[in-house]
Amino acid sequence: MLPDGISLHRDEETIWPASANVLMIRDADGAVLVDVGCGKEEVYLRLKEFLSSHGLSVNDVHTVVLTHAHPDHMGAMRFLLEEVSPRVFLHPVEIPLAAEPSRLNRTFDMDLPLRYGINPFNLDKPDILEYFSNLCPMSRADATHAIDPDGELELGRFRFRVIVTPGHANGLVSLFEPESGMLFTADAVGDVVAWYSPSSGGLTGFLEGLERLAAVPAAFLVPSHGEVNGSPAREIAKTRERLLRREKKILEELAAGPVPFPELAARVFKNPMIAFFPGPQILRCHLDKLEAEGKVRCRGEEDGRLVEALQT
Ligand SMILES: [Zn+2]
Ligand SMILES: [Zn+2]
Repeated sequence: MLPDGISLHRDEETIWPASANVLMIRDADGAVLVDVGCGKEEVYLRLKEFLSSHGLSVNDVHTVVLTHAHPDHMGAMRFLLEEVSPRVFLHPVEIPLAAEPSRLNRTFDMDLPLRYGINPFNLDKPDILEYFSNLCPMSRADATHAIDPDGELELGRFRFRVIVTPGHANGLVSLFEPESGMLFTADAVGDVVAWYSPSSGGLTGFLEGLERLAAVPAAFLVPSHGEVNGSPAREIAKTRERLLRREKKILEELAAGPVPFPELAARVFKNPMIAFFPGPQILRCHLDKLEAEGKVRCRGEEDGRLVEALQT
């Protein structure tokens, strides 16, 4: 399905939190990479093997487009930048995060669970970079070029339309190539629904981004995590349905009366692995949307510790 000149590198395991897929676009000068994957050395070595299987080396990489500043998409910059100095493109709001990744603690809302007294792992100062250090280490990188959020990106012989899909990251970029109908959705649509947090664009941002993706005449979809898919409309709808199913579940939990935020989080997200991140952050996104729609009210202490459904 991929047009001539574009190849996809999938690492051994690509389902999040594993390394993100890497898209390679060849041109007369060498290669463009869209994302570079995780900051684990073995992952980077497999990326280099992929390049050599196409008769290229890392020295041919003259441009890197990062869909957003997350470890599984740009961690490998730590190795790549030791060997080459490519142009680096990023959405403007992601540039400071890539330059100083500790700022991700703010966009990931790492302090949010503590505000509700949720701290199952007894963390003093939760740090997202530490959280990812074993899974997929992060790297810092300086962008050399800002992506125009309403514009196009010319890569090789292709002109990609930029589609911004916040929710998971404020500057998360999807790319549409009209000639082949390829829609590269990054983390907005994939085999699993990406986490979302209030400071990364929230649920409302996520749903609006999905609408923008659904409006594109895509023939096939390439996600950052998972496989190429021939039914883009169905995949986008599936993500939307999963988000709304979560909303329905939250309203069901509130049907019998008000529930404290920590208890609601535990009921909606049963997996203890996500009890601190991203469960509470996702729940807060849903409550923000439901409150704006007048369907729930959060009351009690600063951040609304008690959640109740309103009669509508
Ligand atoms: Zn991501
Ligand atoms: Zn990802």
